[in-house]
Amino acid sequence: MLNNQKSGDKMNPNRINNIKTGIVTSEKSYVLYWMQQSQRVYYNHALEHAINRANELELPLVVFFGLTPNYPDANHRHYQFMLEGLKEVKFVLEAMHISFVFKLESPEKAILPLLTEADTLVMDYGYMRHQKQWRQKVWDYANRHLKELTIDIVDTDVIVPVDEASNKAEYGAYTLRPKLHKIYNEYRDYGGLLEVNQPTFIKIGSDDDLSDIDLLISKLEIDKTVTPSLIYHGGYTHAKAHLIDFLTYKINQYPLSNNPGDDLTSKLSMYLHFGQISSLEILDSLIERFHSNEVTQEAYLAFFEQLLVRRELAFNYVTYHKGYDRFDSMTEPWAYITMKEHHHDDRLYLYTIQDYVTFKTHDPYFNAAMKEMVYTGYMHNYMRMYWAKKIIEWSDTFEEAYKTIIELNNKYFIDGRDPNSYAGVAWCFGKHDRAWTERLIFGKLRYMNATGLERKFDMDKYINRVNELISFS
Ligand SMILES: Cc1cc2nc3c(=O)[nH]c(=O)nc-3n(C[C@H](O)[C@H](O)[C@H](O)COP(=O)(O)OP(=O)(O)OC[C@H]3O[C@@H](n4cnc5c(N)ncnc54)[C@H](O)[C@@H]3O)c2cc1C
Repeated sequence: MLNNQKSGDKMNPNRINNIKTGIVTSEKSYVLYWMQQSQRVYYNHALEHAINRANELELPLVVFFGLTPNYPDANHRHYQFMLEGLKEVKFVLEAMHISFVFKLESPEKAILPLLTEADTLVMDYGYMRHQKQWRQKVWDYANRHLKELTIDIVDTDVIVPVDEASNKAEYGAYTLRPKLHKIYNEYRDYGGLLEVNQPTFIKIGSDDDLSDIDLLISKLEIDKTVTPSLIYHGGYTHAKAHLIDFLTYKINQYPLSNNPGDDLTSKLSMYLHFGQISSLEILDSLIERFHSNEVTQEAYLAFFEQLLVRRELAFNYVTYHKGYDRFDSMTEPWAYITMKEHHHDDRLYLYTIQDYVTFKTHDPYFNAAMKEMVYTGYMHNYMRMYWAKKIIEWSDTFEEAYKTIIELNNKYFIDGRDPNSYAGVAWCFGKHDRAWTERLIFGKLRYMNATGLERKFDMDKYINRVNELISFS
């Protein structure tokens, strides 16, 4: 058994949703796990369930991944990071005697020929609109054509599945927090992976063996204007190195991590985004270190709040707030009223996207944040808030500001296109926040300025830190 964990029956059954029960037959060749959101081996409940199911049926296991060159807003930077992770996944799975089938086609289409020989299809779960649509299409197809196929969906992307935490859109962290605190322990449920009983490789051709990522990318018709990050590299090994570094050297200073001059956060968001590490693994490691007195209570609670409450509030948002990615439906009525009232306020500065990405605004902190984003693919959380607030201040309209922020966010951040992207940006427009004292341009939306940054932090330190980072890029 891997990971020195106990066997697979520890999993909370609420993670598994049996959406189709097939007619029992002994003629099928394998169990199929469609890996899409959770691109990892360790702490992957969907893989754990697929192995258990394969062993129960005494069948081999095949893991499938479909790579579409048309993923919304994805570019070279994102593909590189993702493929680095998948290369590692393939290597580890094959060492476990599990076949890995990699297709260069949209997954909901590429998977169809593989379904005929499958007894059971296990899917992991993705909360974004197009991820749900992909799974829905495969489910519809199976309902029409495949009477014998069983389908289970396993939620392994969050600690507490969204509908178990709450059945409605939450107002803010303060309403979701008590619900999560009450039940999260029931979802500390990773039991480890069993060995497969049928270690037979099934011969289904892959479109690429992932041995040469540069060559593979050269063949893909994707946007190559945004180059890969030279600072951050994809894959579980890198994710785990960040986690260990964070828990060993930074965690006890985490309550001070709002300071952008200091590098005190985990850098795990990009790995979480691609499912290359599990938030439950991070939580379990945190709790272990807390119980062995290596982590202070203050630090433990501060990180727990971000990893569990804030992150899962974003998943609640994209699940129950149907228009999460559209300007006219992403925030609260009070925010639209105040934006309308301040629509015609004079804007002192107006900048274009070109000004932003060439660091030509009058604001050195904003320019430094843009450099961090464009060159490294990441930006410090406090600077993300400041950055978006400035774009609101320097755009002709609120709608244009929203579009610019989303475009830059999803183009340059490795962790872009995530539930956290949409919740983070909507927060800058009042979602999950409250009304503040009325002022020009912003109305009752929370305002941030450079003087505030200087009062709280040593901002030259941030500028120097970014310059140092990009000297490696
Ligand atoms: C305008 C704006 C845009 C954002 N865009 C994204 C985005 O595209 N992708 C993305 O993953 N996050 C986004 N965030 C949320 C947050 O800034 C990042 O998750 C965080 O900075 C990631 O760095 P880290 O992993 O070092 O965080 P840490 O401080 O180490 O936190 C650990 C984990 O907790 C979660 N977390 C931390 N801060 C937040 C937060 N404010 N809200 C929700 N979850 C949080 C993340 O999963 C993070 O990886 C955005 C926030 C704002 C205000």
